[in-house]
Amino acid sequence: SVYLDYNATAPMRPAALKAMEEALHSVGNASSIHHQGRDAAGRVDQSRRFLADLLNCSASEIIFTSGATEANNLALQAAYAEGGLIVTSAVEHPAVLEVARALTSEIPGSLSVLPVDRLGQIDLEAFTESLQRYDVTLVSLMLANNETGVITDLRPVVEAAHAVGALVHTDATQYVGKLPVDLEELDVDLLSLSAHKFGGPQGVGALFIRRGIRLSQRPLVFGGGHERGWRAGTLNVPGIVGLGAAAEAANHRLLDEASRIAKLRDLLEGELLARLPGSYVNSSRAPRLPGVASITFPGAPADAILASMPGVAASDGSACSAGAPSPSHVLVAMGLSREDADATIRFSLGHSTTEQEIRRAVVAAVRAVTHVQALMNATAG
Ligand code: PMP
Repeated sequence: SVYLDYNATAPMRPAALKAMEEALHSVGNASSIHHQGRDAAGRVDQSRRFLADLLNCSASEIIFTSGATEANNLALQAAYAEGGLIVTSAVEHPAVLEVARALTSEIPGSLSVLPVDRLGQIDLEAFTESLQRYDVTLVSLMLANNETGVITDLRPVVEAAHAVGALVHTDATQYVGKLPVDLEELDVDLLSLSAHKFGGPQGVGALFIRRGIRLSQRPLVFGGGHERGWRAGTLNVPGIVGLGAAAEAANHRLLDEASRIAKLRDLLEGELLARLPGSYVNSSRAPRLPGVASITFPGAPADAILASMPGVAASDGSACSAGAPSPSHVLVAMGLSREDADATIRFSLGHSTTEQEIRRAVVAAVRAVTHVQALMNATAG
C-alpha cells in the first residue's frame, strides 16, 4: 500500500538500518573502559557529531533520550524549576501541552496558552503582550506543527523572550531532518527531536541544551549519571547510531529532498482539490513543511474515508491522539468546525515517497471521498 503517514513515523533510511545492524552485532557498554566499551562510546560520539552537524550546535550540547516526548518532559521540567509563567500555544503536541499543564497545575494562572489564527499561526503581538504583563520564565513553541506542517517564525519570539529573561524551548520533532536548522542563528535554549520522524528508529531522540543556560539539574530518570547527569541508564547504542546515521543521510540531501517532496505534496493537493469540489487545504497560505497536506473533505468523516481506502496509509488527526473520540485540538484551535475537523485527512510524505505513489493515492482518495460523501447524502436524505 502507499505509505503517506511520515509524520506518525517514517520508514528507516537504508544508511540508518545498515549502521544499526553493525552496532547490534557488536558488544560493548558505552560506559565500559575496555576496548569493546570504547568502541560503543566511539559510535555514540560519532552520532552526536552527526546530529550536531545537522543542527549547527556543539556535540556536548546534545543529550540522547528515548524520544521527543521524554526530551520535552525533561526540557520543560528543568527550565521551569523556579516557577513563574509558562507560555505555549494551543496547537502544541500533547507531549508539550500536557507537561506544561502538569507543571503549572498547582499555581492558578501560571500557564498561558496562546491562540492561533485560521492558518494555525500564533499572534506575535499577543505573545509580546503576554511577556510584558507577566513574569514569564519559559516559552515553549513548536518549530513545525505535526498536523498541518505550519512553521513558527521563532526568531522574533526568541528575541522578545530573551529580552525579559525567559528561556525558549522548541519542539522541533517534525522539522529536524526536513529543513535546515541552524541553532546558532535560531538562538533557542532547548530543542527536542525524535529519530523516527526522519528515518531513524523509534524510541530514541535528543534534547539540545544550550551551553551556559540556567537550568535546575534534576533528571527525570535517576541512576548512574549518564549523559552528563541528565539521563541515567545504559545508552541505547544501536538506537543512537541509527539516529546519527539518519541525521547524516538527511543532512546530505536536505534541500534537494525538501524541494522534491514539496512538488509531490503540491501535486497531491492540486489533484485532490481539482477533482473533489468543496475540499480545501488547511494552512496552505502559511509557511509549511514540504511534506504535509492537511485536507478537509466537508461532509465525509475521516475515519470513513480511511476505511474506504485501505491501499493508502494516512491519518485522521494525529496518530498520537488516535483512539480519542474528540476532533483534533489543532484544527479546532484554528477555527474549523467540529464537522470539518472530523472530515480532515493528514497526508504526510517523505524521503521515499514517489510520484507514482502520489498518483495512486489520488485515485484511491477521490474514489473513497466520493463514495463516503454519497453515502452520507443518502443517509441524510
Ligand atoms: N512532538 C511532536 C510535534 C510530534 O509530532 C511527536 C510525535 N508524534 C512527538 C512530539 C513525540 O515524539 P516521540 O514519538 O519521539 O515521543
